[in-house]
Amino acid sequence: MTLLKDVTDCSTYSVRGLDNQLIAQMNKIRPNLLVRIDSLNVELGQAVHPWMQAAAKKCLERAIAARGQQMIINSAYRTIAAQMLLFLQYKTGRCGITAASPPGNSNHNNASAIDIEDPYGWRSALESNGWRKLGDWDRMHYDCVDNNIQSIKEISVQAFQQLWSMSRPNDKLADDGDYGPATSSRLLYAPAEGFPGVGIPRVLKLTEPLQIGNDVGELQLALRKAGIDIDKADKVFGTGTDLAVKEFQTAKNMVADGIVGSGTRKALGLE
Ligand SMILES: [Zn+2]
Repeated sequence: MTLLKDVTDCSTYSVRGLDNQLIAQMNKIRPNLLVRIDSLNVELGQAVHPWMQAAAKKCLERAIAARGQQMIINSAYRTIAAQMLLFLQYKTGRCGITAASPPGNSNHNNASAIDIEDPYGWRSALESNGWRKLGDWDRMHYDCVDNNIQSIKEISVQAFQQLWSMSRPNDKLADDGDYGPATSSRLLYAPAEGFPGVGIPRVLKLTEPLQIGNDVGELQLALRKAGIDIDKADKVFGTGTDLAVKEFQTAKNMVADGIVGSGTRKALGLE
């Protein structure tokens, strides 16, 4: 386990496990707060986390449609963990980072900012669709300033506080969304790979009593999408779902045991 304070890799991709947990937790606190942007006509680098707040995605969609070409994005959303990593690199003079705000203070933490290639080519399409250029000192950076943009700082901090408290019941943090010393010092000790045992999907299978839940519903829809005949997506793991899982596993040359663990989830595109 690598703690955030000990990460030596320069790419923010090294905190992706923790990032994913933070994003999932934020969307649990406020459903659909963050939405994926990789469905748009964009090219994203590996380290780019493809999420923005919903109003910013609309802002982006309009601008891309206005210019009618693909946008190359170098940075979009940064969780407070990714921002902490950049801030540490800046403070210690590593990785060529010459400026970085503390977590929560960058507009990238608000999921309403982008850094892009060809910033001047995009300027008129962006500025006529709710984006504002930051300035020539940060020439790739634009912020969506649409009226529907909300401040998500508190929720992003709260998500971390909740994850920390779930994972360390003996060292709980107040769930107040306040990025004070108690929270910032613990962020340094968060595991870059994510908190172990938190948010790991349960194994789905035929049990007595039957498993019921949104995760079963998602499984059923994924099976249907994979071309498996399943007559009802009723969120109940019954014998029909069991057979459908086995049919899918057989088609994929997997062990047809009807148990949906990580391997089957991956094959279904669920993780
Ligand atoms: Zn930027």
